[in-house]
Amino acid sequence: MTQIRQNPTYCAIDTPDLARAQKLAAHVAGSVGGIKLGKEFFAAHGPQGVRAVVGAHDLPLFLDLKFHDIPNTVAGALRAVCRLQPAIVNVHATGGRAMLEAARDAVAEAGGEHRPRLIAVTLLTSLDDSDLDEIGLRGPVTERAVALARLSQDCGLDGVVCSPREIAAIRAACGPDFLLVVPGLRPSGSAAGDQKRVMTPADARAAGADVLVVGRPITGAADPAAAARAIAADLGIAA
Ligand code: C5P
Repeated sequence: MTQIRQNPTYCAIDTPDLARAQKLAAHVAGSVGGIKLGKEFFAAHGPQGVRAVVGAHDLPLFLDLKFHDIPNTVAGALRAVCRLQPAIVNVHATGGRAMLEAARDAVAEAGGEHRPRLIAVTLLTSLDDSDLDEIGLRGPVTERAVALARLSQDCGLDGVVCSPREIAAIRAACGPDFLLVVPGLRPSGSAAGDQKRVMTPADARAAGADVLVVGRPITGAADPAAAARAIAADLGIAA
């Protein structure tokens, strides 16, 4: 299984522009612990595009495709993306036990010695208590997120994606070995953008996050490598 590097920051490269993604990856390669590519990039460029971005660097990949379908389909999709040897892949916990277990088995079988960490999205952080009510789930959001994290752990997943405000509750419920991957981070002084509840990378790390996902504060900076190095310095890491 791929180990999480000393530098826990994964740079989210969210663009449909292949050349821009390659340029950003080349800029930040020496200053981050990994790269995250998601649906926006994958829908435009597929597995070949992923290879074109990460192939040139020795950088772990978080392939953030948040699969959610019937168990057989999710297992097939995960077997296919395991060929890219990602370090981290994910599914939606609301896909339920059978889907989560099929996902776990698929990455174990297809990943082999390069088995990626399989994590779950509990609830999208864009949902609030009234959204949950509307889709027939009873809140509060944090309680539901903790319950879905426990289910994911029970099904043999390695961890979850969680918002900064859920770190403490999920860590308390799932223990020290459960991987907590945390987006919604803003170094002090950077714009929050559309992230509503932000925390600094250093505060998230101190609260118990294992992997920090940072996008625009790095990719939107005039000097992305310098922005990534500043985050590493805040974390007390030389990059
Ligand atoms: O640019 P920014 O730092 O806000 O990017 C955060 C990244 O984390 C984006 O790729 C976004 O899709 C992702 N993400 C998130 N909130 C979640 C799950 C993923 O912001 N709950």
